[in-house]
Amino acid sequence: MSEARLPRGAPGRPGRAAPLLRDADGQVSTVRAAYVIGADGAGSFVRRELGIAMSGDAALSRNLNILFEADLRPHVEDRLSLIYTIANPALTGTFMTVDNRRRWLFNLVHDPARRAVDGLTLDGCAGLIREAAAVPDLDINVIATQEWTAAALLAERYRVGRVFLAGDAAHPMTPYGGFGMNCGIQDADNLAWKLAAVLQGWAEPELLDSYEAERRPVGGDSVAESRRSLLATLESTAVIPGVDGPRPRSRPSDGLVLGYAYDGPGAAVIPDGTPSPDVRDPVAVYRPSARPGHRAPHLWTHHEGRLISTLDLVGTGFTLLTGPDGGLWREAAPHDVPLVVHTGDADIAAAYDIEADGAVLVRPDDHVAWRCPRLPEHPERAIAEALAALLGTRERPRRAAPSL
Ligand SMILES: Cc1cc2nc3c(=O)[nH]c(=O)nc-3n(C[C@H](O)[C@H](O)[C@H](O)COP(=O)(O)OP(=O)(O)OC[C@H]3O[C@@H](n4cnc5c(N)ncnc54)[C@H](O)[C@@H]3O)c2cc1C
Repeated sequence: MSEARLPRGAPGRPGRAAPLLRDADGQVSTVRAAYVIGADGAGSFVRRELGIAMSGDAALSRNLNILFEADLRPHVEDRLSLIYTIANPALTGTFMTVDNRRRWLFNLVHDPARRAVDGLTLDGCAGLIREAAAVPDLDINVIATQEWTAAALLAERYRVGRVFLAGDAAHPMTPYGGFGMNCGIQDADNLAWKLAAVLQGWAEPELLDSYEAERRPVGGDSVAESRRSLLATLESTAVIPGVDGPRPRSRPSDGLVLGYAYDGPGAAVIPDGTPSPDVRDPVAVYRPSARPGHRAPHLWTHHEGRLISTLDLVGTGFTLLTGPDGGLWREAAPHDVPLVVHTGDADIAAAYDIEADGAVLVRPDDHVAWRCPRLPEHPERAIAEALAALLGTRERPRRAAPSL
């Protein structure tokens, strides 16, 4: 990828692009693509090539990771966990399990007043781990070390022409709270179906504009919460003489991870005028809602003889989830857009806030695109208009997929 040339076409207009790729053996090949996704991590080459600026904190804390083997099991078997945070007057650090037996990762946070990460030898790393574990004679094999800097940054743009950013390339954040991978997978889930729809010809390229409009606000919220969580953790593990008792801890983040909604300008949803759920703390609290833009709520439902989640009904196309008397929707379903109809029960109708003959249109990324609280006079026309508005095909008939 180091020799990649990126396509710089007009936004949303497929055309010819010829990135050069060099593989591990030095073989160079040319790939022609209508679109490119830069999912190449926090130091993203693609982002730099596009000249996309970042905002936020580039250096919140310096860290040293030490991967090592040691038999720590006797010291933790009465309180097995994923992460063990050490806070004592000498250092702040975290033991992370790899197998909760012999293989571990120790993360030391740089604090020049207590213990700095600079210039530590392998023996020094082993001594540090013995000190952190409070086991002076621990037998340790240090496998690898890596210094890294925690950042909380957001790309000013998620797209230039036919090139998109996704994952850490768009939003490098601190590992505190565990949001980075979640947010990156959500980016991919959001972008993949839109690209498929455009390339397969059932949506216009304008649909791709909604990617940045929907995902950048979520990226910004996740970056901000990861920053807050890092600072709260460092504060909670700082040893303050004379201070004892409860300290600030990470707050839950169910609302941030599951409760976000695509309801701002440019989102590919059709608002129904209802207000967003009234939650005291939208980061901490997740209140399931089928309001357009929100992630479709999970409920158990019978499907082909099995009990599955409503979310598992959703495939690579749209899903029209109806109330128990929604049989007529089946005949109204269009044939030029991938769409399956599922008849739900009264519990689903109640949770999705529709009448027994109402329906909710769910996008391939699980988000509600349109909610029709009761059967309209012309359901076929209603759903065709909703899809045309969502997919940008209102003015034009759907077209064939472009050739690459
Ligand atoms: C200690 C720690 C704990 C974490 N815990 C969590 C957690 O609990 N939950 C969570 O959601 N997230 C967590 N994260 C964050 C998560 O690991 C990242 O957000 C995620 O890996 C980002 O995925 P990505 O695919 O965007 O980037 P990356 O994982 O960085 O992948 C980018 C890929 O692109 C490749 N690449 C880069 N440049 C080129 C090039 N020029 N040519 C070819 N290939 C290239 C790289 O080799 C790499 O394979 C944690 C991170 C850390 C550091």
